[in-house]
Amino acid sequence: MLNNRRIGQMREHMQLAQVYQRLETARLRVTPQRQTVLRILSRRLGEELSAEDLHRLAAEDEDPVGLATVYRTLDILVRVGVLIQVMHEDGVSRYRLDVETLQPQQHLICVRCGDLVAFTLSWLNGLGERVHAATGFTVLDHELKLYGVCTACQGGGRGGVG
Ligand SMILES: [Zn+2]
Repeated sequence: MLNNRRIGQMREHMQLAQVYQRLETARLRVTPQRQTVLRILSRRLGEELSAEDLHRLAAEDEDPVGLATVYRTLDILVRVGVLIQVMHEDGVSRYRLDVETLQPQQHLICVRCGDLVAFTLSWLNGLGERVHAATGFTVLDHELKLYGVCTACQGGGRGGVG
């Protein structure tokens, strides 16, 4: 039987897997320092942490990461779109994982031109909970790919003009 703690760990693992995939897509290495920063942020979802916070937390319960490296890492992760940088009134930037972009996505894939479009369907929100209620299966993530022909490959929009 899965307890909430175990499910939380698995969710964290899934999120990090998505983030690492994103780094690889951007041709960035998943260095131990980047892993440490991301692990800390993924354990504190919803919290905004400064570079100083991350530097301190890394030294406390992870592997120490130099402050300059923390700053560099944060810059990179913001550029890749994994983190959101929030400028606070005290002039200190704080960072959090961009959970929105880590939501399960649906993809439309055109079988003619190979075009891939990511989109989200609001009616799929809560799918995991509904599957769990119906079957007892614990859903951690999902992926939906719809194959078809894009409007461009259909020779123009859906209007049927021409
Ligand atoms: Zn197409």
